[in-house]
Amino acid sequence: MISYNEAVEIIGNEFKQLPKKIIEVNLLDAAGFVLAEDIYADINLPPFDHSNVDGFGVKFNGDRKEWKVEGELSAGNYNEFVVTENTAIRIMTGGKIPPGIDTVIQMEDVDEIDGIIYVKKDIRIRSKQNVRTTGEDLLKNELALSKGIRLSPQNLTLAAACGKSKIKVYAKLNVGVLSTGDELVDIDIVPTQDKIRATNLYSLILLIQQANMNPINFGLVKDNKEELKARIFEMLNSDLDLLITTGGVSVGKYDFLQDILKELGTKILFWKVYIKPGKPLVLGKYRNGNSTKLVFGLPGNPVSSFVNFLIFIKFALENYLGVEKTRNVHALLDTPLKKKDLKRHFFRGILRYETESKKYFVSEAGHQSSGNISGLSMANCLIVVPEEILNPKIGDEVVCIEI
Ligand code: AMP
Ligand code: MG
Repeated sequence: MISYNEAVEIIGNEFKQLPKKIIEVNLLDAAGFVLAEDIYADINLPPFDHSNVDGFGVKFNGDRKEWKVEGELSAGNYNEFVVTENTAIRIMTGGKIPPGIDTVIQMEDVDEIDGIIYVKKDIRIRSKQNVRTTGEDLLKNELALSKGIRLSPQNLTLAAACGKSKIKVYAKLNVGVLSTGDELVDIDIVPTQDKIRATNLYSLILLIQQANMNPINFGLVKDNKEELKARIFEMLNSDLDLLITTGGVSVGKYDFLQDILKELGTKILFWKVYIKPGKPLVLGKYRNGNSTKLVFGLPGNPVSSFVNFLIFIKFALENYLGVEKTRNVHALLDTPLKKKDLKRHFFRGILRYETESKKYFVSEAGHQSSGNISGLSMANCLIVVPEEILNPKIGDEVVCIEI
């Protein structure tokens, strides 16, 4: 049995050896991927000086208050004019500023009478007002987006402005999922007698998608050694990067996974981590030529497999990609927590921010059985209680991981 920190270190080292394949995707498909290239502005942004209001372009001249309207410029329909001290050009938002004009007075600030504009009383004109200048957003060849960020719609808007219709990103890891257990039926069946709905496949596929990886569903397998072995063999010989199984990793008579992995040539890196929920977690590593696959055998309890995915797989993935970390929040306990052993516990919690005291508070999300799916559903965080802390009380400070 190893500690949580030891497990995280082992997993982290193994993740470092996973492939970082670079692929090119269309901009519209790139959200959620991690950027694998630096993107530079290929032009000035904006590319020309333009008006940022609908109004009148003039040459600024101290206290002058009236001009004659001598032309019109709408966005995308540029023209040049002979400009004198007395010239105003009606200009729309986005219209390019012609030579001789340096200032735009917005429509609302003037009265227009018989082709002459008069600045309204109490309105002060400043030189160069309402003009967006060339490159004020980003200069040509300036760095727009740095390699290594997780691409959001706002990032991709900038990429679009830089003319990047194809973007180099790191390929998503392929993650196969499989659930074991004679008691499992799919969710569209009403379970009878001693059967239960197999929820783990669904939760894991959703979590894998949320972590921007590619889930591949290998379905349900009975607690039958030969059947399970055949399915695991198939998974090990496909193009998966990670395999995640649930169930069958404990010490029960029908918990075959570890033996099967060994028989198929998988090296067991650890079995059992001193945590709750999810102690019987197993990590294996399978080498075939140049390719390496990691196998996570998660326990079958729905809360255990969910929480273990987050704390071991999702966080390791974020580290490996160098992208944003899940946010840790310090909070005060609203409810006492029952912890009688020296494992590291990850309680499901409900975190709230109190505006008055400007503090976070957290309470238990239902009872903490690892079969309590309704508690999991209410939770918005994991309350981390380290090994040496026993039975934390109301008012104690704890670290919460937002989920
Ligand atoms: P195991 O880890 O196989 O010993 O299973 C532990 C508990 O989790 C048992 O009560 C199982 O019935 C339950 N369980 C196993 N797999 C699933 C699943 N896919 N969905 C929901 N519960 C499961
Ligand atoms: Mg089982």
